[in-house]
Amino acid sequence: MSLIENRAAVGPLHRHISLRAQEKILPSVNEIVKTLRPEEPLHCVRPGVISNTASAFCTAFNGDVLYAVKCNPEPAVLRAVWDGGVRHFDCASISEVQLVRRLFPGAEIHFMHPVKARSAIREAWMLHGVRDFVLDSAGELDKILHELSRPQTTKPDTKPGLFIRLALPETGAAINLSKKFGAEPETAITLLRAARPLAGKLGLAFHVGSQCLDPQAWRDAIQLAGEIIRAAGVRVDVLDIGGGFPVAYTDMDPPPLGAFTAEIDAAYDALAMPGLKLWAEPGRALVGGGASVVVQVQMRRGNMLYINDGVYGALADAGALRFRFPTRLLRAGRNQGAPDTPFGFFGPSCDSLDVMNGPFLLPGDIAEGDWIEIGQLGAYGTCLRTAFNGFDRASLVEVCDRAMLETAGYELQEG
Ligand SMILES: *Cc1c(COP(=O)(O)O)cnc(C)c1O
Repeated sequence: MSLIENRAAVGPLHRHISLRAQEKILPSVNEIVKTLRPEEPLHCVRPGVISNTASAFCTAFNGDVLYAVKCNPEPAVLRAVWDGGVRHFDCASISEVQLVRRLFPGAEIHFMHPVKARSAIREAWMLHGVRDFVLDSAGELDKILHELSRPQTTKPDTKPGLFIRLALPETGAAINLSKKFGAEPETAITLLRAARPLAGKLGLAFHVGSQCLDPQAWRDAIQLAGEIIRAAGVRVDVLDIGGGFPVAYTDMDPPPLGAFTAEIDAAYDALAMPGLKLWAEPGRALVGGGASVVVQVQMRRGNMLYINDGVYGALADAGALRFRFPTRLLRAGRNQGAPDTPFGFFGPSCDSLDVMNGPFLLPGDIAEGDWIEIGQLGAYGTCLRTAFNGFDRASLVEVCDRAMLETAGYELQEG
């Protein structure tokens, strides 16, 4: 018997209702809660919202759209993204690569994590047809080239696509990523020059930070990228403008999608580099409105509600980041007329950090046994669940509801 056991900390979400693609009639959240009366968190995925949103982004953006898988890797979500027309996937780990390849044999997979395990590089290249790799250091460039040229590795049919990740100055994003990843301009120039002769396709990539409400962040970054490409003096094939596109939350109302694409198009035109292709790697924007979680109130103490999901479950961003997600009371039978009152939530674990202060507005007579639908949890919700304290159970259902908040510019196309 092997001494090493692989054990997933969190089991895959158990599906209550398995609906094949051809059975188009999905239940509503109200119907499903009435039927199931769920005592564990119920993830309500809206495939129609996700595919419409993905399709709106693909139409508005002048280039290839890569879905950032980490944001929500649920197969139901990935299929909806695919149905919206997305054929490229930004993966960061070998498990994400395997998952996407299993679901979509024809997908184009790009390995966009600047620091990779050697075995992951080899497996992605040899078994899964991954040809594009991102890097932000000379060490990672050496690592990639060494792994692809090892005798055991199948000889490259083409040279790899090599993408240099650029660090950016601070933007107005909720979550900055340039402190952890990205080459400073001087290093990026050196890396572009070093990679050019080795690359089948050479790219420059950046990420303005997640939930970035300021369209000008992309203009500034594209301008900086242009300066770096000119300074490097080598041909660059792709400019990858990353993710970061925002979603509406309570109190966070982003400019419409068109405001972002207008800045991107203008900045791209100003580069005057006609051969340069644009890529984007949206995560949150494609799926944020595409799922909610129904939780149950287990106890009320004043204006704090003890609920069955928390910061170690799908509500991580309601904790430290203090995101205010939209909420809605679901109650069987009784009236819902009580005026809205601000509430905070305690999660189920014994940890005092498992608190979400919101405030979340709910009818003042909310009580034990009531359900709350918490919206806009399609991005960085499900995927952040842990098994901490044994509260690892949740299930998933596909529903026909709209997003709980519309993000401007992604309005549903009827039909
Ligand atoms: C997380 C991530 C994304 C997606 O970011 P969003 O803010 O969800 O759009 C895209 N690219 C990379 C490299 C990332 O790490």
